[in-house]
Amino acid sequence: MAVRPIRIYGDPVLREKARPVEETTAALRRLAEDMVDTMIEAEGIGLAAPQVGETVRMYVVNLAAMRPELFLDRGGPSLEGDPDHLVLVNPRVVKQEGEQTGEEGCLSFPELYDKVTRPDVVRVEATDLDGRPLEIEGCGLLARVLIHEFDHLEGVLFIDHLSKFRFQFLRNRLKKLKADSQAD
Ligand SMILES: [Zn+2]
Repeated sequence: MAVRPIRIYGDPVLREKARPVEETTAALRRLAEDMVDTMIEAEGIGLAAPQVGETVRMYVVNLAAMRPELFLDRGGPSLEGDPDHLVLVNPRVVKQEGEQTGEEGCLSFPELYDKVTRPDVVRVEATDLDGRPLEIEGCGLLARVLIHEFDHLEGVLFIDHLSKFRFQFLRNRLKKLKADSQAD
């Protein structure tokens, strides 16, 4: 088990666009394992590779934290047997439907939460670490995490979805996070 430090808002790596995974190396497998450990340790429901400083297109989701009714569809060997965690390599969002507004946070923004509007249904296709296809479609919180983590691979953060008014409201707390992050 290895927990890696989570990069905090203000760290430029969070704004980089991640590059596709071309092959599964031992280092990539280790990264995936460490991301799962890091997510569990931080009590998160998802974590994207850039959040531990690796700009590759991979994220992990804590499926054990999702209620069964949030799963609309799933397919692929890595989703058989109800796994607690899922590793998605080179994910693509292939469907977004409806709208939900709810409280959202991010492990890269400690103790900062705000209401964000997201699609209510999200479907993602990806591969697992063995290159086998997987697909997952969820609603509610599962849809929210699937798209939130995907955003990280594009260098997009949840605060980018806030209204100008809310952004202004949180400005001082964001400034402080940024200053603390750059002081490290
Ligand atoms: Zn996040």
